[in-house]
Amino acid sequence: MQQHVLIIENGEGNLELIAKLVRRAGLTPVGATSLTEGKARFSQNVPETFLCAIVAYSLPDAPHGQAIDFTASAYIPTIATTETLDNATRDKVLERDVVDYIPKENSQNYDYLSRLISRLEKNKSTGVLVVSTNRVLRSRTISLLQRHNFVAFESLTANDAMQQLSGHQNIRLVITDNTLPDMTGTKFVAFLRKSFSKEQLAIMGVAGGQGMLMSAHFIKSGANDFLRIPYCHEEFLCRVMQNVEYIESVEEIRRVANTDYLTGLPNRRHFFYTVTVQHQSLSEDHALALIDLDFFKSINDTHGHDAGDIVLKAMAALIEFYFPDEIISRFGGEEFCIYMPNTPLDEACERLDDFRKVVEAEVIKLPTTDIKVTCSIGVCGARTQRVDKLLSSADKQLYAAKNNGRNQVMCEQPDTSSTEQASLL
Ligand code: GH3
Ligand code: MG
Ligand code: MG
Repeated sequence: MQQHVLIIENGEGNLELIAKLVRRAGLTPVGATSLTEGKARFSQNVPETFLCAIVAYSLPDAPHGQAIDFTASAYIPTIATTETLDNATRDKVLERDVVDYIPKENSQNYDYLSRLISRLEKNKSTGVLVVSTNRVLRSRTISLLQRHNFVAFESLTANDAMQQLSGHQNIRLVITDNTLPDMTGTKFVAFLRKSFSKEQLAIMGVAGGQGMLMSAHFIKSGANDFLRIPYCHEEFLCRVMQNVEYIESVEEIRRVANTDYLTGLPNRRHFFYTVTVQHQSLSEDHALALIDLDFFKSINDTHGHDAGDIVLKAMAALIEFYFPDEIISRFGGEEFCIYMPNTPLDEACERLDDFRKVVEAEVIKLPTTDIKVTCSIGVCGARTQRVDKLLSSADKQLYAAKNNGRNQVMCEQPDTSSTEQASLL
């Protein structure tokens, strides 16, 4: 569903500036410069398509926040903008049901608005777990999180929190009080850290009273952050946002480090990591295949490097489609690797020969012409548990397939090298 952002701003200049930020976030602005026009624009759209509204506190036909009341009562998460940051206006804005407010006084605030808009979209799939026996604290915290579109969970005990965490993989942040019935908050943090690193799960401690001491205690126990109760609405949301963004940045870095930039397939490093981890528990049949495109250099030479890239992407897409449950990787250049757990060698070879025929028949569209490619495949089976040995066996088979005329699958013969078998094991 195309996501819209309703903007009701003072004057065309402000409207255009904010519309630009909205477009940059990949969303569609629906703009108005008065409450009357805003209401008209709202009624022209399906309400569910509005991700949020960005609304000026003071407008010519709505000088006292009436436009904010309008969007909030239509259940659209509303970000208020104000001309200045005076306390009186701030209080009037915050007593309403707003996500946040942005004083339009410097460019940093517009950066913050930009982050906020993208967050509202991402938050829909981001879980936050609140752990406390204090009902008021819990419900206030949950309601603030929900205003920001977070998926909010709550627990009264550390034990229940652990269960929620294992049941909901999307939880990125745990906010925990220090007085829990089954253990202290700091003990709970230390306990959580045995299963989740600081880069996998952010933890924010909250506690009243002895704030200064508790903050150090929480952080030394492994918390990423601490907030004293009662907390201020804005500080709470800024810190939640910062902690969630930290976890996401680490996830993004990890994803990039494990992904081949051109095809989006897992790269060699990720392949080794996954197979090695998975391998330890494997004793049954398995197979490994190396796939290499035939005469790929001549595709680059004839049609150009960009055409070569298109072929590599097409090949990657075919592998992804035909081997959805296997561990696949772009190994480098025009070479791909597939690890097939729990697959007998003869079954693996049959599937790979079917795949070879699919590649042979595939027509790849280039900008100026259509081309076809073939590939050679070397496969080896379960004789060894070592990935490096599997790879060198598959490579030998691939070499044989190339020498034998290409466009074929060459499989290791299970009974050919009993001496090698003994030495590998
Ligand atoms: P063979 O049938 O023996 O495998 O011959 P080949 O031409 O496929 O093999 P060769 O190893 O001689 O050439 C591989 C070519 O792949 C050379 C290199 O420039 C090209 N290549 C490697 N990575 C990329 C890439 O990311 N994009 C493009 N377009 N070409 C690449
Ligand atoms: Mg090749
Ligand atoms: Mg090659």
